[in-house]
Amino acid sequence: MADNLVYSSKINKIRSFALILIFVGFAVMYGGLLAKKIEWLMLTLFLFGVMFILLSCVVYFWIGMLSAKTVSIVCPSCEKPTKMLGRVDACMHCKQPLTLDKELEGKEFDEKYNKRKYRKQAKSNNGN
Ligand SMILES: [Zn+2]
Repeated sequence: MADNLVYSSKINKIRSFALILIFVGFAVMYGGLLAKKIEWLMLTLFLFGVMFILLSCVVYFWIGMLSAKTVSIVCPSCEKPTKMLGRVDACMHCKQPLTLDKELEGKEFDEKYNKRKYRKQAKSNNGN
């Protein structure tokens, strides 16, 4: 029952989706090969197959784009290097849910910066 709580890494999910698309594409094209007696059906199936494969290429390209945005970290649970996508993701190796609040860190820094400014303003106000 605890398996319901296991997250799987987003990139792995997308990658397996792209792989499924390629298999579906080839399966559809194979179907077209089987239906070569019916010309329009063969052409339609081939067209769909090519579309699926092109779509998987787009997804793979998308993964590449996403991978550039990921943050490489060492998993605290299994101590293997993994990549995180977004604030919440799972370890690629042990499916350990991970959180990374890079943006929150930035916000905190901004807040501190603002606070310092406020303090300076407050100080100058007190001085006056
Ligand atoms: Zn791990």
